[in-house]
Amino acid sequence: MNTSLIAGGIALLLAIGLVIGLGVLSLLSGAFHFLFASPKLTILKTLHGANGFAFAFTWNSAREPAKFDMIRFRLFNPFGSVTQVDVSKQFDVKDDNFALDLELGDSYGAFLKADNFDKALVQIELVSNKDNVTHQFEMKGAQFIKKMNDAKLSAGEFENGTSKTSAKPLYQTVERTFIADPLPTTNKVLKVATNPQFAEFFGGSGGGAAKSDAPTENFSIAKVWIEPGCIVCNACEDIYPEVFEVTADTCLIRPGAPLNDGLKIQEAAEACPVEVIKFTA
Ligand code: SF4
Repeated sequence: MNTSLIAGGIALLLAIGLVIGLGVLSLLSGAFHFLFASPKLTILKTLHGANGFAFAFTWNSAREPAKFDMIRFRLFNPFGSVTQVDVSKQFDVKDDNFALDLELGDSYGAFLKADNFDKALVQIELVSNKDNVTHQFEMKGAQFIKKMNDAKLSAGEFENGTSKTSAKPLYQTVERTFIADPLPTTNKVLKVATNPQFAEFFGGSGGGAAKSDAPTENFSIAKVWIEPGCIVCNACEDIYPEVFEVTADTCLIRPGAPLNDGLKIQEAAEACPVEVIKFTA
């Protein structure tokens, strides 16, 4: 067999493979977006009679976040009469796929009745005045009329049958707050020294605690922090709210918390049922 023929065949297969590979890569990277996800105008059935025009406009609002607010019709009719018609209509701003049925007035009726309309060129523009974006669609007058006559769905039916796609967020925003949510009320009684109900117990005159009557000298601490595992029982905040702030799912040290009352911080740490409050004196 002719070796150059075989080599040519292999080279051809490799070239085809390369083209297919590049095509798949381009599709994956979104380079063909405008080919396969380009803006689309669908002509719908109007419920406004001769001066009405219903349509749906769909586009990738995640990639092109424009706010559309106007439709414009142009007729280029060099061999008929009228030779040029320009009709436009404003509508409420739309920032995602939408369908509308508009009453365009007598000038639109005149546009449709132009002599030689079938052979004229019809341009329909969807305009975003705010973002300075325009999408233009062109067709012959005959095609325009055929699309209107063939339309089966009204704007309302189109909207009902189309689930709008919301743009996926590009990234999640983590919300953080240093203001505690209101906590559920509880009847739990804390057995801590600051609770007057247990004053006797901590006073050393009764109960089982071996406490000295001698006042303990206070001290400042260098740092206080919360280790993972907080069960949001609220005990620490009940004891020392100027330092501890219990949120919906953890406990925080308030920014600028006073650190000169080491005894109170120590008391909160001792009251913590899971011992996640740590401090250095
Ligand atoms: S006492 Fe401990 S478990 Fe309870 S809220 Fe404070 S840090 Fe969390």
